[in-house]
Amino acid sequence: MAISRILIANRGEIALRIHRAAHEMGIETVAVHSTADADAMHVRLADHAICIGPPPAKDSYLNVAAIISAAEISHADAIHPGYGFLSENAQFAEIVEAHDIIWIGPKPEHIRTMGDKVEAKRTAGALGLPLVPGSAGAVSDPKEAAKIADEIGYPVIIKAASGGGGRGMKVCNEPEQLETLMKQAGNEAKAAFGDDTVYIEKYLGNPRHIEFQVFGDGNGAAIHLGERDCSLQRRHQKVLEEAPSPVITPEDRARMGGVCANAMADMAYRGAGTIEFLWENGEFYFIEMNTRLQVEHPVTEMITGVDLVREQIRIADGKPLSVKQDEIEFKGHAIECRINAEDPWTFAPSPGLVTAYHAPGGMHVRVDSGLYAGYRIPPYYDSMIAKLIVYGRTREGCIMRLRRALEEMVVDGVKTSIPLHCALLEEVDVLNGDYSIKWLEDWMAKREG
Ligand code: ADP
Repeated sequence: MAISRILIANRGEIALRIHRAAHEMGIETVAVHSTADADAMHVRLADHAICIGPPPAKDSYLNVAAIISAAEISHADAIHPGYGFLSENAQFAEIVEAHDIIWIGPKPEHIRTMGDKVEAKRTAGALGLPLVPGSAGAVSDPKEAAKIADEIGYPVIIKAASGGGGRGMKVCNEPEQLETLMKQAGNEAKAAFGDDTVYIEKYLGNPRHIEFQVFGDGNGAAIHLGERDCSLQRRHQKVLEEAPSPVITPEDRARMGGVCANAMADMAYRGAGTIEFLWENGEFYFIEMNTRLQVEHPVTEMITGVDLVREQIRIADGKPLSVKQDEIEFKGHAIECRINAEDPWTFAPSPGLVTAYHAPGGMHVRVDSGLYAGYRIPPYYDSMIAKLIVYGRTREGCIMRLRRALEEMVVDGVKTSIPLHCALLEEVDVLNGDYSIKWLEDWMAKREG
């Protein structure tokens, strides 16, 4: 069956990204939107648009019944969930498939397994991925927890099995605190995710966040598309991402990428996925797997030339992977800046009317955004309004071009994180690629101090 019309169950730049890939394949698109997004670019460009509810996401972009109805009414034969919202909801994927609509995503059972971090870790270990030392599964007994923590050594981190978005984690420095922090972590996890299951891991002091992009055809063939370095983070949220990582050698890439691809082949994984690792002193430690397209996927597209959304659609349509591992070449360097509507220094959200907008252009400059002059950024959703992605033959050239592109970019009427990115690109450590997941917060603290 060939997909001819895709309903895009998302908003903003990622809805546009999917629309663009679909149109380049001759496929029509159906936008769904809340009343707050009636004037949004993803609605304007789509072939069909259906309002699915009021502004709060729970009533619109997370409203399963409304989205399925929209797909039925518009005769969409496939649904692409983008990232966030329903993209990692295994039950939604099952409902889509139960309605004979093609789910452009991994098999529901794989979404479910990887969504539970204890299960994910167990599965990753069984597939041969290196793990952060820690408990073999969930821990509830304080005595057992103390024994595990003693074995792996302090500090340890207590993490929620259902955690996500950097929430539900507690670092514990000494045995005396363990029981209290475990209770706190459990209570917070219960409140946030409705599940108080926690597990324990060695807390790594100064790691980098390095993730591998993988793709499977669902029948046992799988490839990797190299890594992305997403170590520049604030409150566990990524700010700037690059590919390749400044610290990964071609040998490491081939070895670790190979391990990841083999793991996906063994699972008969379908579609796009990201295997996230912490990296310290030359060692990789698996932390989690995301069973969806990532915000930062364009840096991989820039250095491999593979259109990841097109690939997702092809695989969902039952086609084989369009490239073989030995056909994938990693060329040059790409960096993505996430541009948010927020105060660059306090990070306070800054929604509102965009009075003027100019997107940078020129060779190797890509802007993924639904912005236009006169657009009112609604206060209800994520503050990311644009992604600026720049390519260069070398990392140095990429940074020079990125600075130039940031200088050209104009978003008037709201505050944005553009000044933060400009400042970051003047820092010696960033220029040298010498940073860990702690770097950005330390730097911010120094600026304030
Ligand atoms: P989430 O699903 O909430 O994003 P992750 O397991 O991916 O949780 O962890 C998010 C971030 O938390 C990581 O990128 C890293 O910055 C930090 N982190 C997680 N586990 C550890 C650990 N064992 N040691 C040090 N930092 C960690």
